[in-house]
Amino acid sequence: MLTIFGSVALDTIRTPTKVLRGVLGGAATFASISASFFVKPGLIAVIGQDFPKKYYNILNKFLDLSGLARANGKTFRYDGSYDETLSHRTTNKTELNVLGSFNPVVPDEYKKSEFVYLANNDPVQNTKVIKEFDGIKFSMCDTIDFWISTKRDDVIKMMGLVNSVVINDEEAKLLTKTQNLIKSAKKIMEWGAEYVIIKKGEHGSLLFYEDIVFPSPAFSLENIVDPTGAGDSFAGGMIGYMASKKSTKISTLREAVVYGNVMGSFAVEEYGVRGLSKLKKSQIQKRFNQYKKMVHF
Ligand code: AMP
Repeated sequence: MLTIFGSVALDTIRTPTKVLRGVLGGAATFASISASFFVKPGLIAVIGQDFPKKYYNILNKFLDLSGLARANGKTFRYDGSYDETLSHRTTNKTELNVLGSFNPVVPDEYKKSEFVYLANNDPVQNTKVIKEFDGIKFSMCDTIDFWISTKRDDVIKMMGLVNSVVINDEEAKLLTKTQNLIKSAKKIMEWGAEYVIIKKGEHGSLLFYEDIVFPSPAFSLENIVDPTGAGDSFAGGMIGYMASKKSTKISTLREAVVYGNVMGSFAVEEYGVRGLSKLKKSQIQKRFNQYKKMVHF
């Protein structure tokens, strides 16, 4: 089984062509919907009283929601703006709301999960949650500048408790205080993770293990409208694929990274979760095969 813990949000996303207000977002939302194309994930998260029924229905369509709590108060809200190139995002506001005081509980039926993904979330909560699982084969976590700036020591501690860290390039540099991604990955490995995946947006990703680097390009796209959730969809696709194969072999991990790139590419083609929520399984396999052809030489 695969369990995903992290933020479920109401996002305000400002792109040069469109502003979306109060739309369904959150790291765990994108990651778990993406993973759901491979296995049915369990979601642990919190929403507030203001969380719209239509968004609940979307989550319910793709996920097991026994770990989704509804608390008194407002749902976590994130507000971010993209520049003209759509490759740089500035955070305007992060309102933790019910996420700030959340005391996550792992449902008993999730405790045996062999695959666990700690999506972007408070590292203290992530650390508490990971300790509640009994038989983890593969765990992975992500983080974001907000947590690096406010709780860096806890982020480092969390990274020492998982097998794998997935993080974007700018955040990796900020966290490890170095400009070189290889040095950065090595530092994260020194903190305890066996695998480090550095996401580079439209430039794909780098998987580091032992002293090996496996670079993989992003699936080349002409039309990108909203990059929000691309990284989460990447991670969800990756761990979802591994969970479906019940494998942590390096060959599976390398394929999983390619599925990550493929899932990220679907996420950015539409606004919000639409790119993922309208997706058909056959499109994933088709794009995976195109990807194979694209990188073959
Ligand atoms: P990504 O584009 O992959 O970096 O993920 C964007 C998603 O992360 C958005 O839908 C946000 O709701 C969510 N997010 C932004 N900031 C935070 C934060 N500090 N903690 C948890 N989730 C966040």
